[in-house]
Amino acid sequence: MTTTEEFRSEVIAWVAERYPDALRSAEVDADEAYLGGTTATFPSHAARRWMDEMSERGWVAPTWPAHLGGAGLDPARARVLAEELARAGCRPPLVSVHGLGMIGPALLEFGTPEQQARFVPDIAAGRVRWCQGFSEPGAGSDLAGLSTRAVRDGDEYVVTGQKVWTSFADESDWIFAIVRTDPAAPKRDGLSFLLVDLRSPGIEVRPIALISGRSEFCEVFFDGVRVPVNQRLSDEGQGWAVTRFILGKERQLLGQNTGFGGGRLGARELIGLARRRRGCPAGTLPDAAVRSALAEADIEEECARALVRNAGGRSPGAGPLHPSVVKLTMSAMMQHQADLAVELSGLGGLGWDGDAYGDDELAVARDYLYSKAWTIGGGSSEIQRNLIARQVLELPHLGPEEP
Ligand SMILES: Cc1cc2nc3c(=O)[nH]c(=O)nc-3n(C[C@H](O)[C@H](O)[C@H](O)COP(=O)(O)OP(=O)(O)OC[C@H]3O[C@@H](n4cnc5c(N)ncnc54)[C@H](O)[C@@H]3O)c2cc1C
Repeated sequence: MTTTEEFRSEVIAWVAERYPDALRSAEVDADEAYLGGTTATFPSHAARRWMDEMSERGWVAPTWPAHLGGAGLDPARARVLAEELARAGCRPPLVSVHGLGMIGPALLEFGTPEQQARFVPDIAAGRVRWCQGFSEPGAGSDLAGLSTRAVRDGDEYVVTGQKVWTSFADESDWIFAIVRTDPAAPKRDGLSFLLVDLRSPGIEVRPIALISGRSEFCEVFFDGVRVPVNQRLSDEGQGWAVTRFILGKERQLLGQNTGFGGGRLGARELIGLARRRRGCPAGTLPDAAVRSALAEADIEEECARALVRNAGGRSPGAGPLHPSVVKLTMSAMMQHQADLAVELSGLGGLGWDGDAYGDDELAVARDYLYSKAWTIGGGSSEIQRNLIARQVLELPHLGPEEP
């Protein structure tokens, strides 16, 4: 068994040899990511090679067991791997928020060995793409009030109802969904968690157009969809525990800014933007208010980074942070940066469509519009504050409980 530092040397040497040059030289563009699933294509040969190399080592899902497509790394080695991949500027071989980030960990936590063997390797290999069927027209913050029904019929459930804001359902193969199996039980106890093939008869997926120009959201309609009972994760009536587990994962991911699309400008890029807009490629920017705003953005980003590092319990004596703290802080920071990008762009930041604006300008305006989503998706900021009040600060309980 190698030591952690020997493992680090091994990773450094391996990355130097195997990371494709073509990916090294290309400009980082989130749209270039390989997203997995039956409809996805690799953006380039190099991206495919990188995915193959990483899969072979089990490093796409490094902490997952080797027999399920991972590498069985302990947390210390997984951290070393992540650090060295980041240091070398490697792109993730597979961007799979719902698969690698949510349902994969839930399957490892709650799944039977048969379910794990059936679903987990396909996630690690990027063969199947998943989406999340939680929110409904009448159930967002009060998720446990959802009304999509699943009625047991022999070895199957018959599912009828509607999900909404289902990101990327139109590009996904499977959906994990929380449904009501017992309407008579207290609302959280009557829920079960199902894994549903989106090609099942009775499912209709309708994309929703957004003002930002991106359209990742969908409505998903279930009309008498038959789902085998062996596709229920955990026991009947235990769906809420699985859902809460996944929401915790989601909040950590969103907090680390790996959950939403790219195009976002961080503090360093904002300085570059300010220099370009003011024709000041080097030296002190002339406007004191701009300098001050940029300094604030930089400090906020540094603090948020430190918080995320702490979230993993990395600082001596620091336990893991509640995911809501990370999510609340990071989403607010990302919104502030999007606001500042528009301000720095002046008139160039006003257009979100059309030929009158350059691509960079359109990206700034679209990111600003999209940034409103960061404090809503994965549970709104108000809900995160309620959770922190209750679960971290242990303040008195005044209203209904949040997910
Ligand atoms: C980018 C993005 C991606 C998403 N992707 C998915 C997805 O893939 N799958 C999925 O299922 N859902 C998804 N959602 C939906 C998301 O989970 C919900 O929008 C969110 O939980 C809020 O629910 P709602 O929209 O119904 O708002 P509501 O619950 O109606 O809330 C409206 C307002 O009331 C406030 N509020 C509500 N209850 C309270 C309370 N108790 N205390 C204080 N304030 C309160 C909220 O903070 C909010 O400001 C996504 C949303 C976004 C923005």
